Amino acid sequence: RKRIFSGMQPTDGSLHLGNYIGALSQWIALQDSYDALYCVVDLHALTVNPDPAQLRERTRRTAAQYLAGGIDPERSILFVQSHVAAHTELAWLLSCQTGFGEAGRMTQFKDKSAKQGSEGTTVGLFTYPVLMAADILLYDAGLVPVGEDQRQHLELTRDLAERLNTRFGEGTAVVPDAHIVKAVAKIQDLQDPSSKMSKSSAGGKGVVWLLEDPKKAVKAIKSAVTDADESYGVRFDPAEKPGISNLLTIFSAVTDRDIDEIAKEYDGRGYGYLKVDLADAVVAFLEPFQARANTYLADPAELDRVLADGADRARTIARPVLDRMYERFGLLPVR
Ligand code: ATP
Ligand code: MG
Repeated sequence: RKRIFSGMQPTDGSLHLGNYIGALSQWIALQDSYDALYCVVDLHALTVNPDPAQLRERTRRTAAQYLAGGIDPERSILFVQSHVAAHTELAWLLSCQTGFGEAGRMTQFKDKSAKQGSEGTTVGLFTYPVLMAADILLYDAGLVPVGEDQRQHLELTRDLAERLNTRFGEGTAVVPDAHIVKAVAKIQDLQDPSSKMSKSSAGGKGVVWLLEDPKKAVKAIKSAVTDADESYGVRFDPAEKPGISNLLTIFSAVTDRDIDEIAKEYDGRGYGYLKVDLADAVVAFLEPFQARANTYLADPAELDRVLADGADRARTIARPVLDRMYERFGLLPVR
């Protein structure tokens, strides 16, 4: 069976609706047909220098949300990145195969570093995509389910894998495919439908957090930016109607209903009707999700046990792959 790998950063105590619709719900759908590894990528979160106690807490909360969403730790391997040392070991090998200019072309780095200024930007943020490539290549993953924003990083991962195979011989690395479900790969910020919903987006008013009081989600949806079309046209048209199209995408994802059918129901009726019903649908999704997450968070010892078991299983796969890389790169074996 093909192997898949994916992860999310514990950069906040809560994931948001974009993470769920664009990534987590895809992970859940894929875990039946693939051997899946789902990782809380805490080392990636270090790139923005989080508070230590907060990072630990957020790591557990992120794992609890994977479980609440439906990741089955018996079928899939659920673990924390820093528990498997081979991630950073392989990242070093890959960083010595990545061009400085090549890394400098990553648009996520340009965006995030522009916000933080050059003194606030860490070298880790720059090499982040190399660590991400290591996460994937370390498990010979063939498929990586992610949102649209990760497309460029995935391309870099593929380039690196191909480079290793050319330089060190076929079979050094598996070249992974991105699994990006176009319709849901970019949930936009409710206040700014031209930019993606993000954990680290300033203000966060346009973000629906999975673990926050559902009342706040209702407020965020009701105050979502739409447009000034006086005929209240509701249709899926991201270019002309980015705000409405985003609401329709979310509506369809949380109710499993057809997007055009929803659009037809609200067309011409005033955006308030759409927002009120969408808010209800989101609350109906959030409440049981939060109840499940809280069950896992109420027993941190059990959660840690699940994560330790996942790390053991991940290490078993990672070790021989790292050994193969070390051997191909010409590092002297221990004896
Ligand atoms: P940060 O702002 O800290 O980068 P993030 O919201 O981008 O946080 P990540 O942990 O970087 O979240 O990404 C986790 C996964 O969620 C990735 O697969 C990413 O592509 C996906 N994702 C993130 N934001 C969205 C979004 N708005 N719509 C769809 N998928 C998303
Ligand atoms: Mg991100």
